[in-house]
Amino acid sequence: MKNRNYAKECPKCGGKDIGFGKQSGYATMSTANKMSLGSNIEFVLCTDCGYIIESYVAKPEKFKGTIM
Ligand SMILES: [Zn+2]
Repeated sequence: MKNRNYAKECPKCGGKDIGFGKQSGYATMSTANKMSLGSNIEFVLCTDCGYIIESYVAKPEKFKGTIM
């Protein structure tokens, strides 16, 4: 994951074993106006309890100007 100041510790269980996940394929987030194919979502999660600490859209620039 690129240059993100992601969580180093789980706020729920205090675990420090943080992992990265990715949601792609049909589970992408699409822009509200459906004009683009959307973007994958990346997760920072706790590998001890499974809590998703942070989630990011992989290509946030795709969502610029989508407020109507
Ligand atoms: Zn945890």
